[in-house]
Amino acid sequence: MKEVNVLVVGLGLAGLAYVETLRENQKSFHVIDQSGAGSSVIAAGIYNPTVLKRFNMTWNGEEFHQTALPFYTKIAQRLKVSIDYPAPIYKLFNDSSEHNQWMVAADRSGLSNFLLPTINKDTIEGVKALFGYGELQSCGRINTTRLIEAYKTTIETNITEACFDFSALEILPEGIRYKNIKAKHIVFCEGYAMVNNPFFNHLPLVGSKGQILIIRSPKLNSTAILKGPIFIAPLGDDLYWAGASFEQHDKSLETTAKGKQWICDKIAKMIDVPYTIEKHISHIRPTVKDRRPLLGAHPQHKQLYLFNGLGSRGVLTAPLASNWLYAFIEEGKSLPAAVDIDRFQKIN
Ligand SMILES: Cc1cc2nc3c(=O)[nH]c(=O)nc-3n(C[C@H](O)[C@H](O)[C@H](O)COP(=O)(O)OP(=O)(O)OC[C@H]3O[C@@H](n4cnc5c(N)ncnc54)[C@H](O)[C@@H]3O)c2cc1C
Repeated sequence: MKEVNVLVVGLGLAGLAYVETLRENQKSFHVIDQSGAGSSVIAAGIYNPTVLKRFNMTWNGEEFHQTALPFYTKIAQRLKVSIDYPAPIYKLFNDSSEHNQWMVAADRSGLSNFLLPTINKDTIEGVKALFGYGELQSCGRINTTRLIEAYKTTIETNITEACFDFSALEILPEGIRYKNIKAKHIVFCEGYAMVNNPFFNHLPLVGSKGQILIIRSPKLNSTAILKGPIFIAPLGDDLYWAGASFEQHDKSLETTAKGKQWICDKIAKMIDVPYTIEKHISHIRPTVKDRRPLLGAHPQHKQLYLFNGLGSRGVLTAPLASNWLYAFIEEGKSLPAAVDIDRFQKIN
């Protein structure tokens, strides 16, 4: 029998952040993860704490940003792997009325750290920017696939690549037992697959399907992340990540011809150089009714915890959310009310 402090289910951005927090605090762990099945491995990994559609900050955006970047830098240094690709985001304006909105936003506290107070009118090769663009700084992309793959290799003896079997979970007075592993508690970090978790699937994890294309466009030559109706983010070697759709009704993982056409139509609005499609993939973002993370303990079984609801901003949200959950579980501190799953249990 292997005895650890914590059993973690899922190694996407949430699970990885939590395991890293445990490691830093010298707590032992074991991970059960169904390899390559999460939304983290298809995400562009863009970090941007603003909402460009509305020219405002995301909830808690600055604090998430301040915690996230040092977190990834530290892991990258320890693992000796390149994962952080800082790049400006060019917000392509839809019309000239957005110029004024941009300048007003760029002057606002918080946003002024990210939005540069200039309307750029220069042409960018291959890009349709009829009304110019605004530049965001301190943004970029984390290569989430490489991060997770590299991380896995460092915890080889502490990970089982398999689907978690709920029928094998025993809840004991002093902890849990799962097959040959005993732990003080278990933290579920399953992303959208939480809808199949019998202990937490009463929570309003709505989910939002996103389809994306990986395109090759040798003539585009953009080192910035372009933001028009979708993101087009450079991956190197003439490849770009283009997406994503936000689909509320279809919760299947299948890609669709309609989804592909939708992305191609948006690409056509943003660039005027040829491209070929290399890949078409999709996954479901773990979005919540009130757009806040889902952290906390099961109402009856205090050995069972949840780390979910990272929505469409997992890269920025995961590291600080992980600190909050760790302080709650291991140090008895309260969770911020906005993220505590009690907010739904009290209503019901
Ligand atoms: C198209 C798209 C684009 C996105 N772009 C961005 C972006 O640019 N920037 C950004 O910050 N966020 C982005 N996101 C959101 C981001 O992907 C999520 O916020 C984040 O990845 C969620 O992480 P997670 O660990 O909660 O879930 P997941 O990444 O889904 O990970 C869950 C893990 O748990 C495992 N698992 C689940 N159930 C079980 C089980 N029963 N047994 C064993 N293992 C299990 C899965 O295999 C998986 O490895 C995007 C999402 C999508 C879909």
